[in-house]
Amino acid sequence: MDHEALTPAEPLARRTSPSYEDIFYEGSEKEYRKAIQIAREYVSQFLQKNTTPFSGIKPANLSAIINEIDFDTPLESYESLFEEVKAIYVDHATAFHLPGYIAHLNCPVAIPALAAEVLISAINSSQDTYDQSAGGTFIERKLINWTGKQIGFDQNCDGIFNAGGSQSNLMGLLLARDYYALTHLKHTIKLAGNPPEATKFRVFVSDKSHFSNLKNASIMGLGEQAIIKIKTDRSFRMHPGRLEDAILKERQSGNIPIAIIGTAGTTDFGNIDPLADLANLAKTYGLWYHIDAAYGCGLLLTDKYRHLLNGIELADSVTIDYHKSFFQPISSSAFIVKNKLHLNIIKHHADYLNPPEQDYEELPAQINKSITQSTRRFDALKLWCTLRLMGKEKLGDYTNRIIEAAKETAIMMDADDDFDLLSHSDMGALVFRYSPKHSKGYDVCKMNENIKKAMFFEGKALVASTKVNGEFYLKFTMTNPITTANHTRNILNIIKKHGQNYLQSI
Ligand SMILES: *Cc1c(COP(=O)(O)O)cnc(C)c1O
Repeated sequence: MDHEALTPAEPLARRTSPSYEDIFYEGSEKEYRKAIQIAREYVSQFLQKNTTPFSGIKPANLSAIINEIDFDTPLESYESLFEEVKAIYVDHATAFHLPGYIAHLNCPVAIPALAAEVLISAINSSQDTYDQSAGGTFIERKLINWTGKQIGFDQNCDGIFNAGGSQSNLMGLLLARDYYALTHLKHTIKLAGNPPEATKFRVFVSDKSHFSNLKNASIMGLGEQAIIKIKTDRSFRMHPGRLEDAILKERQSGNIPIAIIGTAGTTDFGNIDPLADLANLAKTYGLWYHIDAAYGCGLLLTDKYRHLLNGIELADSVTIDYHKSFFQPISSSAFIVKNKLHLNIIKHHADYLNPPEQDYEELPAQINKSITQSTRRFDALKLWCTLRLMGKEKLGDYTNRIIEAAKETAIMMDADDDFDLLSHSDMGALVFRYSPKHSKGYDVCKMNENIKKAMFFEGKALVASTKVNGEFYLKFTMTNPITTANHTRNILNIIKKHGQNYLQSI
């Protein structure tokens, strides 16, 4: 394009030649290469130089370095830019890829997805309409259908890529609510807002389900009161008997059960609710059945452990987080619905984007399926590249290794009197604490809090924590196929060392 031709007429003499080299266009290819090359070197350094998952820097020190920077004076070169970014970010970034990182649900990422990222941000397609994405629309649709097929849904399934599991869960709850109002009350919430009966809507989850369900109920105007938490059994799974009792109890007190949300892989324990039993209850009581498989979706990849998800095909809708269990970089999540007609409930026609007379078969648009995003990243390309190059089987093999390393670690903890493990895991999440039996007179919660803090600032291994019945526990979340039982044995020894230090200090 001739940019000169587009500038308004000006006296020739006063015209300075404009410089656009920092804008991505055909004249800046050299600058683009240079910038990416330098960024890449810092990534390589991050990989090669990092031996511990965290530098241990204190928040006050890090914020001081960042606050010191004079933001009004731009830097001169990519070299100085990345030196600064290294000091304020890269040097202290948490390294999820190291075996010593077993804290949260952050998986190491597949390299084909990283290559895809280069295209995604530069070409910058937007997934809302065909004229902003073209191939992107069909790539996304094919991946949604593929995922639906892994779940056990037929051709009637549909869905959309989302920013995360919380958002996908919001879609599940929204469809559940609007579907109920439409079919039972002949009320269209999209147009008329919540009906008066909405204060009585009740949704059943386990007490180990993700907190996003509570937030979503509150966003939707149902209030957290709408979420009924069912006490889990000894392995932290939803208890179907207690669920049925709760449904009946709510009915008896005049409330209106509308949905069951099962969790396939709880964030803390990685355990899967009895999915088929919950499906039966949903059917018996005419409730929407959503399954939050943000974590457990990884089992869709493995033939060996796929049976743990049996019953997932009975759901009306499912949350999938590829960025938790498919080795995808953040963000990559999907909401999948069994019957694509249900998505019509939320469709919104923005006339300027998709005029109603538009022929959707000719010019397809994904925007109608999204509740919270118009402009939307082409995250689907990352998953596409990963599956096309690595294949499902290889990813499944990685998943098997994670599960097996977690099993070995659980056995190790069970065999060691100094550790109390609360439950084995269907996935790779282990909740436990250090409580040496030969020592007396210490507060076990305080000791484990101290262990976690000491480990964080030492940086050698990062673990998470959680509270169970008000008590403090440590947590391993294993999402890395490179992490073996040898690594976790070392981490348990680090925990013992800090525990012993604590005991000597009191
Ligand atoms: C992480 C998680 C979520 C939320 O997903 P985000 O991608 O973090 O928004 C929902 N449910 C479960 C079970 C999770 O583990």
